[in-house]
Amino acid sequence: MATATSQSLNFNFLHRLCKLVVVLCFLHISVTLFYYVRSLDIRSAFVRNQQQQQNRKDGNATEHLGNGTETPVTPKSWKKCPETSPLLVGPLRVEFNIPVSLERVAQENPHIRPGGRYKPSDCEALQKVALIIPFRNREQHLKYWLYYLHPILQRQQLDYGVYVINQDGDETFNRAKLLNVGYAEALKDYDYECFVFSDVDLIPMDDRNIYKCFSQPRHLSVSMDKFGFRLPYNQYFGGVSSMSKEQYLRINGFPNNYWGWGGEDDDIFNRLASKGMSISRPSGEVGKCRMIRHERDKQNEPNPQRFNRIAHTRETMNKDGIRSLSYKLVSKEALALYTKITVDIGKP
Ligand code: BGC
Repeated sequence: MATATSQSLNFNFLHRLCKLVVVLCFLHISVTLFYYVRSLDIRSAFVRNQQQQQNRKDGNATEHLGNGTETPVTPKSWKKCPETSPLLVGPLRVEFNIPVSLERVAQENPHIRPGGRYKPSDCEALQKVALIIPFRNREQHLKYWLYYLHPILQRQQLDYGVYVINQDGDETFNRAKLLNVGYAEALKDYDYECFVFSDVDLIPMDDRNIYKCFSQPRHLSVSMDKFGFRLPYNQYFGGVSSMSKEQYLRINGFPNNYWGWGGEDDDIFNRLASKGMSISRPSGEVGKCRMIRHERDKQNEPNPQRFNRIAHTRETMNKDGIRSLSYKLVSKEALALYTKITVDIGKP
């Protein structure tokens, strides 16, 4: 009997002890949780405070609501633009049967700044891009280019500037040398990190063909109407292409001695291949583009020396390129929709 009573006492004692342990555990967890939540509040208040201080440093004023409270204005440099712009629309209708005027292009693109500069106002563009167009006597084509490209480039949320490099005089045309001049002159204006080299008569038919740079040099005009919407050959690098500053410098820029039509784009391809770079391209669908039909320009006859030059790119590319470029700047004007650079590049 006595043993039964002492067993029941032991059991009661153990039962209470267990209860006490459970209550203590609960208390411990509650206190830990309380302090954890409080530390989170403090941390986020700290981050908020740091950001507000940064905004003030950046000169981003605070907005006064008139009720004694202040809300920080979202700093423009704070938010990067998304990897894929939400403004893109995809395939576009491109036609050249209605004439366009520069006044109309300016009216329809009120956010373009002098010199053909633009950057998004609500986010920081992913790249600073200079668009370089070699040019002579193609005013009508340039109007179409500006008419179609300004809206596209704005939807692509790029921080960009348009540079038209006008060859002065009547000597034989030299596309690649003009592109080198464009590279050098654009860098005097802004810290561009990417260069898009475009013929004046080529218009993309899809705004998902982003005019920016990639980890490899990019060929953008991959399916031109002129070639039945196909690449004419695998090594083709003509029309529109893009290169980062680093990629361009690795190949010593472009050749300066291709006078007349043809070959300079093949030389650029050879330069890239000799440095072990590959060409990135959009799909045939996204890379569709239209060329404005035209007669062959005067002083731009096919260059008979091109085959010989292309065969020797590897030997010549270190001597001939951006490092040996020389030219005379005739004028540089920041016009409403583009920067016009007129240049004397000499003769063959
Ligand atoms: C020329 C290139 C040209 C291509 C397509 C080639 O034979 O060398 O300069 O872009 O044809 O027309």
